[in-house]
Amino acid sequence: NKHHAERAAPGSERLHESATEVFPGGVSHNIRYHEPHPLYVESASGATIRDVDGNEYVDYWMNHQTSVLGHAYPTVVEAVQEQAADGLHYGTPNETGLAFARKILEAFPAAERLRFTSSGTEATMYAVRLARATTGKDHILKAEGGWHGGSSDLSSAVHSPFDRRTTAGLPPGVEEHVHAFPINDEAAVEDLFEQYDVGGVIVEPMLLAGGGVECEADFLTFLREETRRRDAQLIFDEVVTGFRVSPGSYQARVGIEPDLTTFGKVAGGGLPIGGLAGRADLFERAKPNANVPPEQAILAGGGTFTMNPMTATAGLATLEVLESEPVYEHTESWGERVRSRLAEIFEERGVDARVLGTSSLFCPHFEPEAPLTDVKAVETATNRSALVEFHDRLIDRGHYHLPGHMGSVSYQTTEAQLEDLLESSEEVIQELQAEGV
Ligand code: PMP
Repeated sequence: NKHHAERAAPGSERLHESATEVFPGGVSHNIRYHEPHPLYVESASGATIRDVDGNEYVDYWMNHQTSVLGHAYPTVVEAVQEQAADGLHYGTPNETGLAFARKILEAFPAAERLRFTSSGTEATMYAVRLARATTGKDHILKAEGGWHGGSSDLSSAVHSPFDRRTTAGLPPGVEEHVHAFPINDEAAVEDLFEQYDVGGVIVEPMLLAGGGVECEADFLTFLREETRRRDAQLIFDEVVTGFRVSPGSYQARVGIEPDLTTFGKVAGGGLPIGGLAGRADLFERAKPNANVPPEQAILAGGGTFTMNPMTATAGLATLEVLESEPVYEHTESWGERVRSRLAEIFEERGVDARVLGTSSLFCPHFEPEAPLTDVKAVETATNRSALVEFHDRLIDRGHYHLPGHMGSVSYQTTEAQLEDLLESSEEVIQELQAEGV
């Protein structure tokens, strides 16, 4: 078995076996499954995780890319412990949540109001609904291969072939109102605008599930102009890029003001989070006292666990570190170092590969048979099993990646750990070459 991890993890193996009697396939989230079995993690601190068998790994998965500060960052832990003693959640407004919301709005100058959700999935679901409701137009455009969470609307065109619904059980007709375009293809977007009455366009500036392909700045500008001209809302899904790439997220980097921004992951400091932010006028009909007939009222955000003080506290503490410490510079330069050194290693060893990613994120793609300018190319024209094999062997050497997925450095990742990763990467490449894999 090519994918067999060499590191002994009998405890994880046993727990996984037991988990197959509890969870479908032994996991509560499909992407967390990998061969031969997932690792059961017992604790995490700094840049490392420790499994139940006592193995330590430098972590490049970082809780689905949420933990830019690394694990158990001291000021975050302290703040959360203090809050826990005052109650986990009240289900009422609270000042911590308000302060947290203000901080988030400061980061998105185009946004005047926000609503919290408990996940990125809900954030994008409500954003799309808000776009339809405020424009009165039912059709939504999304990027091919864009993963915005599992809501019915946005579950189409996630995996190639992109022209069909990609999961079973969606309400009939859903995909008739959601249409996918390849990123960086202006003509394709224009065609869709010509064919359908489009109320909103949702896009990630960098597609995480698309292996890190990025929208070109010109393409994002085009989307901004086109949505304005056609009276549609432009939604930037910054669940991944938000609070990661710069204090103003990706939109500040490219100087574009979307109508709506969805955020999640990093903002919650490791606890469940999501939300949507935008101009005040877009939320008028979402107010509890909106003076509109019920069918005009808009449901935007909310839920039992929204604005809970634990997430708000972890989020605030995290955003404070992002403001006071050189986190962006550090993670960007570490990320750049990994990307460029990996590329050099591949080049020196004659390995046909390209490394994608931005700021803290990095992902190699082997044997690209086309320019990686959209997700279709990543999905159909690269050797994904080579990537999984590469990651498996890095895990054996103590560098944890979710096999086949993007990696990221954190603020607590050390230079020595990165050098180790690069050295192991070179070793793995040599080993694979020697085996003729
Ligand atoms: N949007 C993007 C861009 C994402 O990457 C994800 C999750 N990976 C989501 C939305 C959904 O977020 P959540 O998993 O918190 O529901």
